[in-house]
Amino acid sequence: MRILLSLILALALAAGVVWVAAGRAAAPAIEITQPGKLVGMDSTLEFTVAAPQGTLTRLEAVLEQGGKTTPLFSLDSPGDADVKQETPERMRVSRPLGKRSVPVLQAGEATVRVSATRSALFGVRSRAAEASRSFQARFTPPRAGVTSSHHFVNFGGAEMVVYRVTPADAQSGVQVGDLFYPGYPASGAGVAGADPSLRVAFFALLHDQDLNTPIYLTARDEAGNQSRSSFEYRVFPRMFRKSRIEITDAFLQRVLPEIVDHAPDLGATLDTPETYAEAFLKVNNDLRRANAELIRSVSAKTAPEFLWHGPFRPLGNASVEAGFADHRTYFYKGREIDQQVHLGYDLAVTVNIPVLAANDGKVLYADYLGIYGNTVILDHGMGIGSLYAHLSSIDVKAGDEVKKEQQLGRSGMTGLAGGDHLHFSMLLQGRPVTSVEWWDPHWIEDRIQRKLREAR
Ligand SMILES: [Zn+2]
Repeated sequence: MRILLSLILALALAAGVVWVAAGRAAAPAIEITQPGKLVGMDSTLEFTVAAPQGTLTRLEAVLEQGGKTTPLFSLDSPGDADVKQETPERMRVSRPLGKRSVPVLQAGEATVRVSATRSALFGVRSRAAEASRSFQARFTPPRAGVTSSHHFVNFGGAEMVVYRVTPADAQSGVQVGDLFYPGYPASGAGVAGADPSLRVAFFALLHDQDLNTPIYLTARDEAGNQSRSSFEYRVFPRMFRKSRIEITDAFLQRVLPEIVDHAPDLGATLDTPETYAEAFLKVNNDLRRANAELIRSVSAKTAPEFLWHGPFRPLGNASVEAGFADHRTYFYKGREIDQQVHLGYDLAVTVNIPVLAANDGKVLYADYLGIYGNTVILDHGMGIGSLYAHLSSIDVKAGDEVKKEQQLGRSGMTGLAGGDHLHFSMLLQGRPVTSVEWWDPHWIEDRIQRKLREAR
């Protein structure tokens, strides 16, 4: 009898230990990854659930708003949800969450709640967990309207608008065809005391866009509500010069080895004269394109306020100003081999001249950059930048703050350069725009300062 009692006691004790241990098994881990803090017409609910070494017996998601609960998902009736078993222990569930798919959703505060239960001890015990996220449902698009007047866009050039957007946290700016130019708080452009809804955006009609490209103000909130508003502007066409460039073997033999050494990914080889001509085409096309992309990504680090003051310093030779967007045709041994657009101004005076900053700014890039050779890119804030190429030496480094007319380096012939010269370009969001405007005090006054004064 005593032995039997001890045995029962031992068994009961063992069962108790297992029971407690099963109770300590990890509860399901729920993580809600979407929505963010705003939900609109077409937002998404997305969450993951992990139940290590266990089976989910229940998984539910509901919407709670104004005391009402609406089912969104359950394991038994997944509806239009997308359920993915990501790992043996984790599944990801996503389904539409917005007015369009959940019509009961009203504008205002709401919560999604996800709850899960897993089994332990062969289903005798279970562990549950819950996660929730509160959000604002919003179905009205942000309101945006341009407040500045008289907008003149030169083909290949830039222009600026002052506008108001509410709510101020909407992403807003000017759309030119498929290119978006973000706006920045007007206070950063020197409009003292401007509330955050007053914004300034620079935009451009690029040399390779259509003259009739639609230009409008756009605003979009995190919930995906979007508005467009048009504003008055005039576009002035411009003819770009055509020029002919003769490529000689001597030129290729001088410039290519240096460029190709710096661009191992290009896959260009330099053995026979034929491979030189092929390498030139790779450099003039593939590398040129990769360089343009790098300039754009570097320029994305622009400051949200003006770093510059007054007109930009001209190159010092008015005759170079016709050089922007020259359409160049390249000839090799009398045969046309390529066409490109020259997106800057070339200044050749003598060799190794000091290259000076066109305005106050911050160095975004100071290094070798493919066809541009040794290059300095300055940020002047709000998407405005300037680029100095083919330098023989560089005197600044990325992150440096520079003053107008501070020396950045010396001119040279690194990269794809026919001789010692400075290649200069103004940039807007990393895309070349005509510099003449930025050199012109009248343009700076009419296009920028006047509008900022009126905004005050
Ligand atoms: Zn050039």
